[in-house]
Amino acid sequence: MHSLAAKEEILSRARGAFLGLALGDALGAPAEFLTRQEIRGKYGVLNEMVGGGWLRLKPGQVTDDTEMSLCLARAVADHGEWKLTAIADNLAGWLKSKPIDVGDTCRRGIRNYLLKGTLETPPNEWDGGNGAAMRMLPVALCTLSDQELLERCTIEQAHLTHNQPLSDAACLAVGKLLQMALTGKSLLQLRREVDLLISRFPSFTFDPYKGLATGYVVDTMQTVFHCFFRARSFESCVVETVNQGGDADTTGAIAGALAGAYFGEEYLPARWLKKMDKKLVAELRELADRLVKLSPLFTP
Ligand code: MN
Ligand code: MN
Repeated sequence: MHSLAAKEEILSRARGAFLGLALGDALGAPAEFLTRQEIRGKYGVLNEMVGGGWLRLKPGQVTDDTEMSLCLARAVADHGEWKLTAIADNLAGWLKSKPIDVGDTCRRGIRNYLLKGTLETPPNEWDGGNGAAMRMLPVALCTLSDQELLERCTIEQAHLTHNQPLSDAACLAVGKLLQMALTGKSLLQLRREVDLLISRFPSFTFDPYKGLATGYVVDTMQTVFHCFFRARSFESCVVETVNQGGDADTTGAIAGALAGAYFGEEYLPARWLKKMDKKLVAELRELADRLVKLSPLFTP
C-alpha cells in the first residue's frame, strides 16, 4: 500500500513527533502553573529553552510527559509488541526512581499496580486529568494503520491510571490525529476528525477559545486544538501553546507531538534541539523508528 518513499516519510514524521513531544515539554515546563500574564511579565514571549520554573529545570530538561511516553515506547520496543504488563512495569520503575514530577492520578494508578497488580483503574468521574492523553504518541506509532488495535491499546494504557469518558475520548482522538498527521493527511482532514469528537463530546469545543489551559483534559485539548489549527509552523504552534500557561509542559508536549508529526522532523528548531540531552534525542529518534517498524503498517 505504501511505497518505500512514503514509508521513509512516515518514519521521519514519527521522529519529528517524538522529538516534538520532548521539545514542547521542555519549552513549556518552566511556565507550568504560570498564567498567561505572568509569562508575559517574566519572559515577554517564552520561545527559548530557559529552564527554571517551579521544578528548577535545566534548559531543555524534560518532565513526566516525556518520561512516561518513554516508559511506553521502551516497553513496546523491548518486547517487539504491545505488552501492557511491560508498560506497567516500566511506569512502576519510573515512579520508584523518584521522578521530579508526577501527577496525582498517575501516581495512584501506578501505585495500585505496584501494590496490587491492578492493570485497570476503576471508573472515576474525577479522573479527567490529561495524564493518559500526554503519553499517547507511542501508542499511535506502534499501531499505525490498524484502527482497532489503536483503540484497544489506547484504552488499555489510559486505564492504567485514568478511567473516565472524557479522558478516553481525548486519548482516542489524540491517537487518531497523530496517525493522520504521521501519514500526511491534510489540516482539513484533521479538523474534520476534531469536529467528529466535538459532535460526540461538545465540551471539547475550542472556537471561540475560552483561554483555559489547565490539566483538565478538556481544557488541555481545547488549548492544543486552538493553537495547532492556527499555526503555520512547528515553532509557532508550540510557542503559542506554552504561552497560554497553565499546564504548559503538557499542552506543549501534546501540541509538539502533533505538530512534529504534521510538519515533519526537518522543521524542528535546531536551536531548541541543541539544548536537549544528546542521548535523549538519539533514543527518541531510535524509538520512533522502531515503533513504526513494529506497527502493522510495516509488518502486515
Ligand atoms: Mn510534565
Ligand atoms: Mn504538566
